[in-house]
Amino acid sequence: MPKNKEKIWKLINDRKFIRIAGPCAIESEKQLSKTAMAIKNNIDILRGGAYKPRSKPGSFEGLKKEGLKILNKVGKKINKPVVTEVIDTRDVSLISGYTDILQIGTRNMSNFELVKESGRTKKPILLKRGFGSTVEEWLSAKDYILKSGNNKIILCERGIRTFETSARFTLDLAGALIAKNESNLKVIIDPSHATGKKELIGPVAKASKASGLDGIMIEVHYKPQTAKCDAEQALTPKEYNKIIIGL
Ligand code: PEP
Ligand code: MN
Repeated sequence: MPKNKEKIWKLINDRKFIRIAGPCAIESEKQLSKTAMAIKNNIDILRGGAYKPRSKPGSFEGLKKEGLKILNKVGKKINKPVVTEVIDTRDVSLISGYTDILQIGTRNMSNFELVKESGRTKKPILLKRGFGSTVEEWLSAKDYILKSGNNKIILCERGIRTFETSARFTLDLAGALIAKNESNLKVIIDPSHATGKKELIGPVAKASKASGLDGIMIEVHYKPQTAKCDAEQALTPKEYNKIIIGL
């Protein structure tokens, strides 16, 4: 895929509804490649975590540099741009050498040094909303990217914490729409983390599109039962393709 930042940004902007998908974590070349090959006709951007921020110590934290190399290689193989998460300012420069888009996760939206450092790369930034952050705080975080001289920003609503526990998080669709209206940026939805439930991913994806939002990011694994991270919410490629075709 085009390594040029402006070209990638144009590609993103030319899409009416952006489809980002791939595994939660990159586990091996075989795993990413099998997954990517099976969904490549229904994605615009391939995702995969090489550095995973885990809530519980001892969980799989990603293949790190090896994962970056795999992501880069598989992205080229399927001719799609790739996105991966940065969790530490010290890794921003290394990671930007391997990815087209940098993702700031929910746990780091308010890590403003990381946000600024990522912005300075001038690569497109996928800024997830903190699960305990208001829309106003989310939009202020994106101002740090703008202030670093980078206007290539995609916002991603991925669910917030409320008193409700029936889904993994609570999807704030109205908040995503407010963020879009107030920022004039592309705002996408992550139905996988927002719900944590496979059966809700399709309906939430549909609602995102119907409400005029700009895209979705979905976790897919060629063998979900073996996934080292977020296995219960991972779709098979077949399930994913069906959802996308039906949108
Ligand atoms: C992810 O997309 O891999 C991720 C960790 O999501 P979040 O930061 O929304 O939990
Ligand atoms: Mn995940």
